[in-house]
Amino acid sequence: MREFDLWLTHGSDLADRAVELLAAAGVAEDIGGQGSRIGIKPNLVLPRPASQGATTHPEIAEGVIRYLHQHGFKNLVILEGSWVGDRTEAAFAVCGYQALSAKTGVPLIDTKKDSWKNQDAAGLEIAVCDSVMALDYLINLPVMKGHCQTNITCAMKNLKGLIPDREKRRFHTLGLHKPIARLASLMPRGFTLVDAVCGDLDFEEGGNPVRRDQLIGGFDQVLVDAWVCRAMGFDLEEVPYIGMAERLGLGSANVDSARVAVLQKPGMPVSARNSRKVAQLLSRVDQREACSACCAALVFALHRLSRQGERRAAALPLSIGQGFKGRGGDMGIGSCTAGFARHVKGCPPQAADIIGFLKEQA
Ligand code: SF4
Repeated sequence: MREFDLWLTHGSDLADRAVELLAAAGVAEDIGGQGSRIGIKPNLVLPRPASQGATTHPEIAEGVIRYLHQHGFKNLVILEGSWVGDRTEAAFAVCGYQALSAKTGVPLIDTKKDSWKNQDAAGLEIAVCDSVMALDYLINLPVMKGHCQTNITCAMKNLKGLIPDREKRRFHTLGLHKPIARLASLMPRGFTLVDAVCGDLDFEEGGNPVRRDQLIGGFDQVLVDAWVCRAMGFDLEEVPYIGMAERLGLGSANVDSARVAVLQKPGMPVSARNSRKVAQLLSRVDQREACSACCAALVFALHRLSRQGERRAAALPLSIGQGFKGRGGDMGIGSCTAGFARHVKGCPPQAADIIGFLKEQA
């Protein structure tokens, strides 16, 4: 039995952080035989650089490849199919994966051009690309970000890039949640390494990146999605495919009993300029040397509260950041404000906990 269920790390040196996280989780031992065919699946939904909040940073995939090569795994492929209406080849080029493939020798597979077969996914037929079904192991590299229809998109939703375009369209007619949960049941064994570096606030396409500088890893894709759900301030019921996948026996959504290892603590102040939408959410907050992970949790919480019409809760005067360590005050976010009259615990806290706290105070 493993000591931990989830691994978190923070920092800007993404390739090194990815190597560190995979090593801590023992992914090489989990894969097994060195001849295993291993798929690496980023989110390249459209041709936009990762800094805009929609796609997976290529440095993370580079770290994964470095780790796998160090452990003698050579049979690797990077697979992806962009969303309907965009060309995967353009995304490979713009997002840095063509260059990564040339540098590492790991081939790219455009799943839009792949053959496919119908597979029985717990009673629902789903067309899946043949290159996926030929894998022994899948390393899924989703982006943690908002989504206009499913509220969040992360591990399980990212698998939609492994089906043909006609099936992607059909998923929408089926309401997305049921086929997303069922598709997850068809995947080979694997590990999920989430790019939570600067995923978008509420839209799959990017444009409002929220700086967080975090990677999240886990073998249980249901638990990873459930954890992300909470980190973005949603209740599990608001993302139905997570509960559906749990009921199919694909994993556990019980975040409260998850054992979480933090490899590198947050410590990076927010460096990039915020989009207007994100800056607006933080406009009343007193920030002093606030880590990006802490600020991101607060941004997601304030966004949820304003969407819920909780104006009073969203407008409370708040303080956040390492600059408040050892100081007093009224209402604070994160362990650095432990000396305040009232504060939300956590380093960083979860958006769901911030929401609960602010609703109580309002
Ligand atoms: S509680 Fe303090 S140290 Fe921890 S993430 Fe927040 S600002 Fe950073």
